[in-house]
Amino acid sequence: MSTELTPIEEARRDVVLGNHILAMEGVLDVFGHVSVRHPERPDRFFLSRSTSPAQVTDETLLEFDLDGKIVSGDGHPYLERFIHSEIYRARPDVGSVIHHHAPAVLPFAVTGVPLRPVFHMGAVAGEISPIWDSQDDFGDTSMLVFNQPMGASLAKCLGPHPTALLKRHGAICVGESVPRAVHVTVCMRDNAQLLMQSLAMGEVDYLSPGEVEKSAKVNGYGRPLERAWSHWVRRCG
Ligand SMILES: [Zn+2]
Repeated sequence: MSTELTPIEEARRDVVLGNHILAMEGVLDVFGHVSVRHPERPDRFFLSRSTSPAQVTDETLLEFDLDGKIVSGDGHPYLERFIHSEIYRARPDVGSVIHHHAPAVLPFAVTGVPLRPVFHMGAVAGEISPIWDSQDDFGDTSMLVFNQPMGASLAKCLGPHPTALLKRHGAICVGESVPRAVHVTVCMRDNAQLLMQSLAMGEVDYLSPGEVEKSAKVNGYGRPLERAWSHWVRRCG
């Protein structure tokens, strides 16, 4: 009997692993989520029902359409599923979306100090993380991205970037696949930590735009990405 997984089984396995890896890495705690686009239906995606990332399993996964409606599975969905649905709608190149509130990243979402790469792996998270402020279009809200217009506004701010910050709230990271989106997320967290420490020490020497472009290409795909993913999967046990 073949043990090879179908593309759908593989996507579902990866999204469960992505949740567990980021919980283990301390990027996700009780909140935050990881989704994956349906490999055969680009207008659908898999995202867990509302639970903490460490508790996500294949059984907790729901299938959604791009309006954020459940098309398969039972359970209470995350309020912020519109982050995922609207990014998948706006970005055909994106295969996985992550929303997190990593403590190292939050000070940049609070102060607006630009989050730019300060070490080679930081380039994987992009040259700059644009900042989306829900106040601009929606005024006083719970600050959760709980409907389509908010998701669409956030997706517009993200533009072609791999990451964006949500003012006074958290961040989003995207990639072509779950391993790629997880890699972007961990590199963003590490870069934020190093930048914060560097800012406290003195003047910061950021990567040049050319260094960002070259380093992102070399360190963010292929072998380094495979190595990172297999390392995390192994650590997750
Ligand atoms: Zn959130």
